[in-house]
Amino acid sequence: MKIKADYANAPQWKELNIKSRLPEQLKCLDELAHNMWWAWNYEARRLFKRLDRDLFEEVNHNPVLLLERLSYDRKMAIVKDRALMDNVKEVYKKFREYIDVKPDKKRPSVAYFSMEYGLNQVLKIYSGGLGMLAGDYLKEASDSNVDMCAVGFLYRYGYFTQSLSMDGQQIAKYDAQNFNSLPIERELDENGNQVVVDVPYRNYQVHALVWRVNVGRIKLYLLDTDNDMNSEFDKPITHSLYGGDWENRLKQEILLGIGGILTLKKLGIKKQIYHCNEGHAALCNLQRLVDYVDGGLTFNQAMELVRASSLYTVHTPVPAGHDYFDEALFGKYMGDYPARLGISWDEFIGMGRQNPEDHNERFCMSIFACNTCQEVNGVSKLHGWVSQKMFAPIWAGYYPEENHVGYVTNGVHFPTWTATEWRELYDKYFDPTFMSDQSNEQIWHAIYNVPDEEIWNTRLALKNKLVNYIREKFTQTWLRNQGDPARVVSLLERINPNALMIGFCRRFATYKRAHLLFTDLDRLNKIVNNPDRPVLFFFSGKAHPADGAGQGLIKKIYEISQRPEFLGKIIFLEDYDMRLARRLVSGVDIWMNTPTRPLEASGTSGEKAEMNGVVNLSVLDGWWVEGYRKGAGWALPQERTYQNQSYQDQLDAATIYSLLENEIIPMYYNKNKEGFSADWIKVIKNSIATIAPHYTMKRQLDDYYSKFYNKEAARFKKLSANDNRLAKEIALWKETVAERWDSIHVVSREDGVLDNGGETGVSYKIRYVIDEQGLDNAVGLELVTLKPETDPSDRKVLSVHPFKMVKHEGNNYTFELSIEPEMAGSFRCCVRMFPSNANLPHRQDFCYVKWLD
Ligand SMILES: *Cc1c(COP(=O)(O)O)cnc(C)c1O
Repeated sequence: MKIKADYANAPQWKELNIKSRLPEQLKCLDELAHNMWWAWNYEARRLFKRLDRDLFEEVNHNPVLLLERLSYDRKMAIVKDRALMDNVKEVYKKFREYIDVKPDKKRPSVAYFSMEYGLNQVLKIYSGGLGMLAGDYLKEASDSNVDMCAVGFLYRYGYFTQSLSMDGQQIAKYDAQNFNSLPIERELDENGNQVVVDVPYRNYQVHALVWRVNVGRIKLYLLDTDNDMNSEFDKPITHSLYGGDWENRLKQEILLGIGGILTLKKLGIKKQIYHCNEGHAALCNLQRLVDYVDGGLTFNQAMELVRASSLYTVHTPVPAGHDYFDEALFGKYMGDYPARLGISWDEFIGMGRQNPEDHNERFCMSIFACNTCQEVNGVSKLHGWVSQKMFAPIWAGYYPEENHVGYVTNGVHFPTWTATEWRELYDKYFDPTFMSDQSNEQIWHAIYNVPDEEIWNTRLALKNKLVNYIREKFTQTWLRNQGDPARVVSLLERINPNALMIGFCRRFATYKRAHLLFTDLDRLNKIVNNPDRPVLFFFSGKAHPADGAGQGLIKKIYEISQRPEFLGKIIFLEDYDMRLARRLVSGVDIWMNTPTRPLEASGTSGEKAEMNGVVNLSVLDGWWVEGYRKGAGWALPQERTYQNQSYQDQLDAATIYSLLENEIIPMYYNKNKEGFSADWIKVIKNSIATIAPHYTMKRQLDDYYSKFYNKEAARFKKLSANDNRLAKEIALWKETVAERWDSIHVVSREDGVLDNGGETGVSYKIRYVIDEQGLDNAVGLELVTLKPETDPSDRKVLSVHPFKMVKHEGNNYTFELSIEPEMAGSFRCCVRMFPSNANLPHRQDFCYVKWLD
């Protein structure tokens, strides 16, 4: 036998986790570090900073890592430092007082599902606005002490960190997160082992580890498939946020929805309301259907209960932005479900189609969400309307303005986004009930009592803080990436905190039109380079790695920023994250947003600016349509002038330039002898007093309860009482109506006006006799009149007049309507018949419609 030259097996590396031991007196810090409460309590963040200032910077304000790296000597020194230990005790006491309050059981309980959560920069499980919203929501749920829990993913790589090459090319870097150094905990079972959830993927299972983030009093459960129980094919399910192909996306959505419900079941958690933040989570309703059917209900009965207890919030204003899955791919994973539900494959996949009979349509998660959630909402008033139109084809028989899609305008979590300096100022001047009564404009009006000088000094402090932060954070990065040290140093020195500073920071999606400002470079040059009235622009944001156009925009802006005339005047800040965002939304003077109408569903960063005395200059889209008040910011007009987008862009750019040249810059620099502009402070005060109160997360949470959760919980309670009696009744009633619908017919009709027309001021009676085919008063009739629009594709309802059921004999029901035409003209009218039952939440819940002759 020939002896092998080398012979070794592969080592089975064990993940060994050595924890840094804390002295007994400091154990409470570990508990503090493992609750995200510190992310919105500046006393806690200050305390961590005091423990070791340099180290706290080094670990990017991650308290868990801070404690892990704290040297032995430093720990001993802390324990001996009386003042510091008093501070430790004080903060911990405040934390315990907060945490120990039991949740308010008076309001309905909620399970919340989302692909991303923006809680703090150290937990990279967010990419942009959607995640911010979800993170802020949980924080407010904690502050408002409601009974809520949430489900999401613990991404191994999360969203990428961004750097730019010398020529402005975005470089996306995915760093693996070390879970042990994050402010999260393993969810343990009764034996002290980490909980594992087994999620069926057709003929095998994926095993997800369950982690927990303590968001104040709220628990957020994160699923993680990157473990050795799974194959190489399934480990990457939770590797990255919005990465991978469509198959991985489907596998993610199965994990979030189905795995999410299985997780809650395994943990013994039951909530009254299931809230899908965006369509990604809609499959939670599939698992809930399966559970009810397993429990002995029919599919139709199960549907009544699932619908009554779920809400779908849509954030995407265009159909193309939603998730669609090919039938083959969808079938590969979902093929077993129809049998489990007792329905056919076509019926099953049809729940995700606009037209269930159209076999060419792909399965759309959002349509599935609309079909399985009783309530649907957009995220601003305008976006609610856009969503009504977008989803209208699902409910043929009704016009967009008639369907039930509603809205709750997004808000932001006040303690997270308001700079400490402002919070202290508000504490000093606002009523002590402020935090529990944040939407009360009266309280905010106290801002008018604050001396102008104090407002200005607060602004100045935050402007300087931003510039210092940029100098500290970017010196190294820019020296590394941008060559020529002399140039970098000169750039940093040129950043002038006394300039009028304008921020444009958000994801680089093309509809946000970051390029607008650069339409006329000569004009821009004159604006930024006036030596008496300098202006400075900050740009920041990531483009999705698959979005070439978005990356092109970054490159273009970066190139312009490197021209001699713009150096230090137009600045691109890499790697926009929550920490940089907090500095920017409180540090600049103006927050600018220029989306293409109406594609900004809400937008929230401008709301963060409001809380910090930073004034908005924005297109009247999303939240700003509602938020804008005269004298409290600037708005680009809402109506579109040109159909052609590039003309519209040029017009909008010209509007921005002239607003800057003629109003904003002169006002900002109209300084008095104290060195500030009283007019400017007036705008700040107006915006804090009249706009900010309406855009807190507290208002948003309260709206979700008053518009949706309370109503649904009450209805669900009725439906499920006495062994689901009413749910079964409604299901049976719908089945019967559906069966007989086609044979329900008009027996006779009498009316003068519909056939022959009439005159204003004269009363006409319309009478229909309907054979209800043995059903008892199961239909309603109404006369629908359309506005006399010229464009048939944009018809709108002018009026809907309900008929009265006046008598019935056997199967024949007589309906009457008296009308007196008020306006002369040519109208389109038709009588609409619909199933009528007081137990339905709205028409779209059982959307059968027959237009009568
Ligand atoms: C608030 C925020 C967003 C959302 O900004 P929009 O202007 O609403 O798109 C995105 N990213 C970060 C880091 C944020 O803090």
